[in-house]
Amino acid sequence: MNLAIIGAQWGDEGKGKIVDMLAPHFDVVTRYQGGHNAGHTVIIRQGGADQKFVLHLIPSGITHAAKTCVIGNGVVVDPRALIAEMAELRGKGVEVTPRNLKVSNRAHLILPYHVALDRAIEAGRGGNAVGTTMRGIGPAYEDKMARRGLMVGELTDPARLSERLRANTRQANRLLAMLGGEPIDEDRLVEEGSQWCQLLAPHIEDTTYYLNQAMRDGQRILIEGAQATMLDIDHGTYPFVTSSSSSVGGACTGTGLPPSAVGLVIGVIKAYTTRVGGGPFPTELNDETGEAIRARGQEFGASTGRPRRTGWFDAVIARYSVMINGLGALALTKLDVLDELDEIRVCTGYRINGQVTDRVPFDAESLSAAEPVCETLPGWKSPTRGIRRFNDLPSRAQDYLRRLSELSGAPFAFISTGPERSETIVDHDVLRACGLSLEE
Ligand code: GDP
Repeated sequence: MNLAIIGAQWGDEGKGKIVDMLAPHFDVVTRYQGGHNAGHTVIIRQGGADQKFVLHLIPSGITHAAKTCVIGNGVVVDPRALIAEMAELRGKGVEVTPRNLKVSNRAHLILPYHVALDRAIEAGRGGNAVGTTMRGIGPAYEDKMARRGLMVGELTDPARLSERLRANTRQANRLLAMLGGEPIDEDRLVEEGSQWCQLLAPHIEDTTYYLNQAMRDGQRILIEGAQATMLDIDHGTYPFVTSSSSSVGGACTGTGLPPSAVGLVIGVIKAYTTRVGGGPFPTELNDETGEAIRARGQEFGASTGRPRRTGWFDAVIARYSVMINGLGALALTKLDVLDELDEIRVCTGYRINGQVTDRVPFDAESLSAAEPVCETLPGWKSPTRGIRRFNDLPSRAQDYLRRLSELSGAPFAFISTGPERSETIVDHDVLRACGLSLEE
């Protein structure tokens, strides 16, 4: 059975660890959307020691030599970022070859003018900035939808690439001039483009055929989401969202796998909530407790270093994610971060203009006006770090988890009690009930 791992909140749920832990049980790991704004932290074992590494674009499976990693057609690829990430991995002794890293010829390219446009557009928004990572991802998706984007496959035809780069750069420079952005040097870009062709062409493939054939050959595919459900362009807190389909729909449009191939979908969810950048966040804590969670949870952006906003677990969001993605189970992370709190709150509904609702409103204005309706549970005030059996957890932590699962409407297949792969409670009964067996 194939498995999709998707963020169930606003991202940074710890998907990297969960994917990294599950990768050994799969043959192929594929990403389906987003760009190098993702930041998956994985631990790479090198020379007998563990080394922390942040992957931005390449699927987390790359650290497992026998796996094939596929950057699907729904991803936007900055060739500079991809080449740099490949070089960094190789420098750390990780094998990166055309055999284990394949990039879809239909993925779209992020070009330097997209980065310049991202900066200029975001600066023009002033106080209403979306909080993009300024990596050109939004403008690259805009070009894709406007049907003027360049696809990765065009790197296999340097002459055609040069022609198209020139035409697109001229057009982008006109737009940049209007927005007060820096123009892009066309000749330099064309020259750089020919280097990209040389370095990346061996990895470019029609990954739609590759993935479907792999499936027919009986290989198991792990589909890795980036960002998260509440940042989905359609289902998230628009306009404070990312530019792609980060919820489960993207797993099909962004890989070429049919819906029937997706199999089980597991949502990764933190024991509390964080959010990076602007946008509504009903359970946000702007106090000492929020600060304590940020410090203990190391809640600073893996890609940008930005401090993340922190708040209580929001079951309205969790239920919505379970519904949108058809989550068969959840992987709860960072339970240990709450170990020292006296009491812990959980949001069960929103009060918006005097009305209580258990639904996520469609617009950012209503969600910004939402006051969380909360339950308060007692903290367990004892360490849970590294605990690997549910029954070994303090009873109040068990009660907290049972309540979260009940409110969210899905069981926990995994409960993560620390950053290491081994610091995880695995519920094999839940996995079996979902049709997935990880036991050898
Ligand atoms: P991702 O983009 O969803 O993979 O999220 P991040 O890369 O930001 O991962 C979250 C961070 O939390 C990483 O540094 C992980 O090593 C760490 N982490 C993951 N799970 C746990 C956990 O259960 N407890 C603690 N304390 N840290 C965790």
